[in-house]
Amino acid sequence: MNRINVTKTYLPSQEVYQSYLKRIWDSAWLTNRGALVLELEEKLKEAYHLNSVILTTNGTLPIQIALKLFGDLGEVITTPFSYVATTSSILWENCQPVFVDIHPDYLTIDETKIESAITSKTTAILATHVYGNPCNVEIIEAIAKKYGLKVIYDAAHCFGVTYKGKSLFNYGDVSTCSFHATKLFHTAEGGAMFCNEETIYKKLFYSHNFGHDGPLEFHGLGINAKMSELQAAMGLTILPEMEFIIGERKKVATFYTRSFKDISNLRGLKLRVGTEWNYSYYPIIFESEEVLLSAEQALNKENIYPRRYFYPSLNKVSFMNNDQEMPISESIARRVLCLPLYVGLTKMELEIITNTIKKEI
Ligand SMILES: *Cc1c(COP(=O)(O)O)cnc(C)c1O
Repeated sequence: MNRINVTKTYLPSQEVYQSYLKRIWDSAWLTNRGALVLELEEKLKEAYHLNSVILTTNGTLPIQIALKLFGDLGEVITTPFSYVATTSSILWENCQPVFVDIHPDYLTIDETKIESAITSKTTAILATHVYGNPCNVEIIEAIAKKYGLKVIYDAAHCFGVTYKGKSLFNYGDVSTCSFHATKLFHTAEGGAMFCNEETIYKKLFYSHNFGHDGPLEFHGLGINAKMSELQAAMGLTILPEMEFIIGERKKVATFYTRSFKDISNLRGLKLRVGTEWNYSYYPIIFESEEVLLSAEQALNKENIYPRRYFYPSLNKVSFMNNDQEMPISESIARRVLCLPLYVGLTKMELEIITNTIKKEI
């Protein structure tokens, strides 16, 4: 059987992509917020009812920019259950990560434990809507208001997700996304940052373009996080196909959910009520790490390679130098496996995946 990975990058119509490339060749304009970047920003804003969009060259720089602006070298309250970029960005910006454990069902930061982690040095909360499942945004907003903290959401997994009828990107002071090739919507490498206030928008905007305010003036310190026209061309080509992509992924996810529904020693992700989800990942949680490892090994024998998203719990990563214990996150991280989920998986392949797992549990 062909190798099956946890994901397979969606490649859109080459013909449409070529038509965008032709525009790049005709204009000889490759970056610095060219026509395609501006067009993609407008189309995203319109399609998902976003208050603002700034496209970036990847999904990590927007987190760093937000932390540079609002972390203020202080303590940043964060989740231990995410991709490493969430926490490494905090360290990179010379802030101190302070972990708060996660909710055992939603797998997002446990909002009831945030207040006791706040000190006089706390400047911001950086939480991840992990697998596209929203954090408790209302409670987090209330806490942030009470203590005068900024809220940054790592919304890397949230393309197309709505919560209570509006895009998840519209929550928080700043929200960020990744358009990496392994993500639901992609521009090969790429990302975006979102916010709701004009003053914050300006700060983010200048920050992502060296601080330039025209060719000769500078608004302030900045870095280069601009998306190129080649990246935007890929995004513009894929965008009209997103409904199809999400629909196909929904079929795969529904197959998994049906196959595992009567199995008591395996559980899936619990979505927060009010969420219109995007089928970005299909995590399953085993009873123990031993069972996970045997299922993973059996799948590997079939040439199937799921991924242990997210292992280890980030408080345990060596360079974090962290001595906090995060029992729930550590336990979930040891037992969670993300199953293959992409457009084009066949029923036969899905049956092999689910039957192989069932034999091991
Ligand atoms: C992918 C990812 C990132 C990093 O995005 P890049 O585009 O690869 O820089 C950050 N946070 C989370 C949760 C991610 O999954």
